[in-house]
Amino acid sequence: MIKVELRRFNTVHGTEANVMTLVSEPVKMLDEMTEPTFRTLLSMAKDDPDGLMDSDLQYRINGGLCEQDSYFVLIKDDEVLFAGSSEFDEYSSDIVSAAESLKAEALEPEGKVIYSDKKSPLLLKVGNVSFTDGADGRFVLVTDTGILISKVRTALDAIIILAVLSIFITAFVIIAWLFTGVIRPIDSLRKAAKEIGSGNLNFKLEREEKDEIGELCSDFEEMRRHLKTQIDSKDRYELDVREMVSNVSHDLKTPLTAIKGYAEGLLDGVADNPEKRNKYLKTIVVKAIDMTTLVDELSYFSKLDTNKLPYKFELLNAKNFFEDCFEDYSIELEMKNFATEFASEISPDIMVLLDVEQIRRVMNNLIGNAVKYRDENKDGKITVRLTDAEDSVRISVADNGIGISRASLPHIFDRFYRADKSRTAGRAGTGIGLAIVRKIVEEHGGRVFARSELGIGTTISFTIKKGAKQNGNQNINS
Ligand code: ADP
Repeated sequence: MIKVELRRFNTVHGTEANVMTLVSEPVKMLDEMTEPTFRTLLSMAKDDPDGLMDSDLQYRINGGLCEQDSYFVLIKDDEVLFAGSSEFDEYSSDIVSAAESLKAEALEPEGKVIYSDKKSPLLLKVGNVSFTDGADGRFVLVTDTGILISKVRTALDAIIILAVLSIFITAFVIIAWLFTGVIRPIDSLRKAAKEIGSGNLNFKLEREEKDEIGELCSDFEEMRRHLKTQIDSKDRYELDVREMVSNVSHDLKTPLTAIKGYAEGLLDGVADNPEKRNKYLKTIVVKAIDMTTLVDELSYFSKLDTNKLPYKFELLNAKNFFEDCFEDYSIELEMKNFATEFASEISPDIMVLLDVEQIRRVMNNLIGNAVKYRDENKDGKITVRLTDAEDSVRISVADNGIGISRASLPHIFDRFYRADKSRTAGRAGTGIGLAIVRKIVEEHGGRVFARSELGIGTTISFTIKKGAKQNGNQNINS
């Protein structure tokens, strides 16, 4: 005997029924499907009950229900007038008695949803019909839930398989991304940090991706390069200092040896006439002056480097100042057989703001170098030229000396740097003259440049900002 269970469904109409309903409550979904037909039949049962006996109508209704795995049954009294499926025969007595039992449940003329619990459960939707001849009847919409539920299960299985597959694929993609995008770069970062920790900076950390880790890698690489540059320059500085100490001690030793020799000569009476004695004494004085100049340059640089020298700026006529400055060397240069030229290409009233003592030292160093690095095979010539450079005046000291090699040129303003050792050998120097020049010029807000060709000559230029007198105040034009 079929077990009849009366259930009321909270019917969700039309399109609101969704896949979730199909999966979570398949019976409710089936109820939804046949609901429009059920409603039509209910209103027909009310308005034209006898019309339900029209067999054309019955087949039409049944045809529509077949597409929803359902069929139509019409019962008048206890007689089955229409049954839309051959399967009905198997359950006819159950269906009829189930429909009948609903009568006892005081079935309203509206539709009720009944769920028949059996192996392949049937969903029965029963409606009351009161025929015009006074006979009692019922129409039943029978839905075989088994067919649809198994379809749903198959779909559900497919969905589960798809879901599991997509979880696996997603997991694989995430793991692959984690490995190539996170773990591997972090591993290279870790290795790089270890290398830096052990003092090795000669590697390159490369990552082209522009994500956060890519940025971290490029910041790390930037830090490595920065550290390397600093360490390299510190190493070079230490090397330069060592070389400078050896140069200075050599440069001090040479005049000291001479002074010692000449002094001993005087003591031993080797200089036996006043003329000789005078010559010995003069040589001692010259050598002592050389030493003083060297020591003075070193101490000046150390003061300049630690910013201990105060600047006293004055507003001066550019042409007059530099012409006078160069003039001071003319006799000395003439004595050393140098031809000199002063060329001013600037307006004669241009003013510059400068510290006279410091700029004189700049000129002294540049002219001194032009003399020191002269080419002994030709007549020396030194030209000082003033040119206009927008808001500055450019001062160039050009010579026709030995020149500087292309490789050395970028370093000549570095402290303690002495270019082309083989050719500068025998010419005293510390390698700080041009470093002093650069420092002073930069303190004036200017820049230094060098142009040189081996065997042709060198031109060292620097700029000094033009100044103007305004309302009695001195300003630097910017
Ligand atoms: P130094 O005491 O050696 O002269 P500087 O700083 O004045 O030191 O110059 C640095 C180097 O630049 C010199 O050792 C020299 O090789 C090169 N140099 C500078 N000026 C000249 C120049 N006018 N002609 C050729 N070489 C020059």
